Formats: sequence, C-alpha cells, structure tokens
Amino acid sequence: MENQSELIKVDDNIKRIREQIAEAALRSGRKSEDVRFMAVTKLQENYLVNRAIADGIDLIGENYVKEFLDKKDFLNLDGVEKHLIGHLQTNKVRKIITEVDMIESVDSMEVAEEIERQCEKHGVDMNVLIEVNIGGEQSKTGFDISEVEEKAAQISELGRVKIQGLMTIPPATDDKRELRRLFEEMRKLFVDIQDKKQDNINMNILSMGMSHDYTEAVECGSTEVRIGSAVFGARDYSKKH
Ligand SMILES: *Cc1c(COP(=O)(O)O)cnc(C)c1O
Repeated sequence: MENQSELIKVDDNIKRIREQIAEAALRSGRKSEDVRFMAVTKLQENYLVNRAIADGIDLIGENYVKEFLDKKDFLNLDGVEKHLIGHLQTNKVRKIITEVDMIESVDSMEVAEEIERQCEKHGVDMNVLIEVNIGGEQSKTGFDISEVEEKAAQISELGRVKIQGLMTIPPATDDKRELRRLFEEMRKLFVDIQDKKQDNINMNILSMGMSHDYTEAVECGSTEVRIGSAVFGARDYSKKH
C-alpha cells in the first residue's frame, strides 16, 4: 500500500540531502554538480524508489543481484543509471553483466577476472570501481590500501574491465575525526593513482559517504555519495531473500 506521508518524507529527505551536499561541496571548494547523489535502493519499497526517481534521482545503487532482477521491471528506470554496490559472488556476475552500468564493488582479482570473462562472452565492457577496505577490517571485503595500486594495474590489463575510480565503506564509528582521516587517506590514494595516468585506469569517481557521514565525505573530496536510509527510512530486512 502506498503511504502518502512516506512519499512526502522521501521528497523532503531528497531536498534536504541535496542542499547539504551542495553546502559541503562548497566548503571543499567545489560545486554541487561535482558530487553525484546515488539513492541506495536495497530492501526499500518500489513506489518510494519511483518517487525518488520522479524527484530527479538519476543514479541508484543495489546490493543484491536477485533482489534487483526481481524488482527492476517495477521501477521506472528510463534514464536512470544503475550501479551494483554490494559484494558480488563470482557465480552471480553472469546474471548482472548486462543489467547494470557499473560494478562499484570489485573486491578481489577473482571477481575482476570473472567480469572480464562475462564481458568477453557478451561483447561488452564494464565500468568498475576498486573497493578499498580503508579501515583494514577483517570483517570487510575490499583491497587493502597497500595493494590497491598493484591490483588496479593488474585489473587494467584485463581489457574489458574499465576502472573508473575507487569506492569505500569506512568502519562503523561515530568518531568524525577518525572518519575524516580515513576519507582523506582515500582522497590521497585516488589523487596519487590519478597522477600516474596509467593506461585503462581512470580516476573519475571517488565513491564514499553514506547516510551518516556523507557531509564529511564530500568535504574530504568524495565525488559520489551512496545514501539509503536517509532517503527512504530504515530498510526492511525481512524482505531480504
Ligand atoms: C547499504 C549501503 C549503502 C547505504 O547505506 P545507508 O547507511 O542506508 O545510507 C551505501 N553503500 C553500500 C555499499 C551499502 O551496502
């Protein structure tokens, strides 16, 4: 059932987040257009996602392959860019390869190699981001900061996998100083790789910042924030397959 007040909340949330992104971009010496606003749609109601799209959201992020395939026909995705942002098992790559515009969560050589194989098979290229485990957490996927350059170079040699930048999920902490330190470290890595101008490695996108830390991320140089619960409210985990 559509709930009118939930729809209005989505409108208000998007408006407020846009303003905050614009202000944070200014504080970092940039323009609001320099930061893309992704709505993270996992486990959210389709009608709310469609409202966000009607409000001008043109980039969505999905975590789970099956969930996305099951619901995509109910979403008004004309002109909307779709990125996979969740950990991708290699056996799911073939299901998603022609369905999304970017895979932000390349977190192992195995998944990069499988993306290459599936691209070959379908005669397509795939834009990707390299996921960095910036907090060095055991529980998290992503490359260790010390190995990112080497792995990016290896991935760039595959051919059809097109590196467009870096993505990270920082540790869950309320310590804003620590978050800033980690975001700045990401920014430095991003610029270092950018400056090397290597073949088949573009550093256009620095994807960092979620509902609780997007203003800090933008202030530290993020070019894309991925925001779920601050747009749509809490996720309904009972919907997870
Ligand atoms: C779920 C998710 C988000 C959004 O998280 P919120 O805290 O709801 O904004 C962003 N990025 C990734 C990779 C996610 O899995």
